[in-house]
Amino acid sequence: MSQIHCLDLKRQHQSIKAEIFEAFEKVYENTAFSGGPFVEKFEKEFATFCDTKYAIGVNNGTTALHLAMLALGIGAGDEVIVPANTFIATAWGVSHAGATPVFVDCTADSWEIDATKIEAKITKNTKAIIGVHLYGQPFDIDTVKAIADKHNLFLIEDAAQAQGATYKGKNVGGFGEMACFSFYPGKNLGACGEAGGITTNNEAYTTHIRSLRNHGSVVRYYHDEIGYNMRMGGLEGASLSVKLKYLQQWNDKRRDVAKQYHSKITNPKVTMQAQPEWASSIYHLFVVTVEDKDAFVKHLEQNDVIAAFHYPVPCHLQKAYAHLGHKEGDFPNSEYLASHCVSLPMFAELTDEEVARVIDAVNAY
Ligand SMILES: *Cc1c(COP(=O)(O)O)cnc(C)c1O
Repeated sequence: MSQIHCLDLKRQHQSIKAEIFEAFEKVYENTAFSGGPFVEKFEKEFATFCDTKYAIGVNNGTTALHLAMLALGIGAGDEVIVPANTFIATAWGVSHAGATPVFVDCTADSWEIDATKIEAKITKNTKAIIGVHLYGQPFDIDTVKAIADKHNLFLIEDAAQAQGATYKGKNVGGFGEMACFSFYPGKNLGACGEAGGITTNNEAYTTHIRSLRNHGSVVRYYHDEIGYNMRMGGLEGASLSVKLKYLQQWNDKRRDVAKQYHSKITNPKVTMQAQPEWASSIYHLFVVTVEDKDAFVKHLEQNDVIAAFHYPVPCHLQKAYAHLGHKEGDFPNSEYLASHCVSLPMFAELTDEEVARVIDAVNAY
């Protein structure tokens, strides 16, 4: 029997190859490789999708977070609250701006940022809270937003894993000051290349970020501030326009796979992410926890199911942040998740037969 992997990007790309190549050809004929009309087209489409006034295309999701911090005026001496259990890039955005990420534990069941633990971390230097829609599932936005408002802090959504996920029925991307997206190929909406984006309803942030990403320039060769080269490429923009048309359908397919996992995985040794009723996840990943993850993964492998770990080391215990002085035990829920998490196969093109094989393998453990 063939192996079932966590993610198989080839199937999706085979299914839309002709359309993508046609889009590439247009970019090629126009030599619109850096920014330009194909990026602008995607920006408009993505803003509409997120129901925000603006979307700004950039070169990756880490940049999106970095530029969001700069647009908010966050820099040296400032602190930004970040969940300890996220892909490290959430914290990079803060560090690249010269500010300090201040980590907060997740809840034991939803694995989202624990809103009850945020206030204790707020100091006179705190400027913003970045909430992460982890694995594609929205965090408790209203509760976190209320804390941000009470303390006069900006709320930023890290929606890198959550294009099309809904919170109380509305697509994520417009709940905070800004939302940051990654279009890394493995994300639910992934470019053929590296790309990222920012959505917002704020015109001033939009103008500023458009300048920052383009060498700090609005009028060519006039530079109003020290800028960056963080534009989205035209080929990436064009591929995203093609894929955005299919996103809802692909997300629905993932939801369908998740529904089967939820209803048919009955092994009491396996714990799933709690799903609050206000969140509709797009299941960027389907993560479960088990006591002995190595034994579980080995068992799955013997059944030709190849699992992965997202993420094995929480941010506060990464060497890169050793200078913050954290130690094991600081964030027990994040640490538990890191040392017990296993990602099951999850992508839109999984066949019913494959889903059934995964379920059988998990239940047989
Ligand atoms: C992928 C990801 C990012 C960074 O995006 P890149 O495009 O890889 O730079 C940021 N935050 C989260 C939660 C992510 O999953």
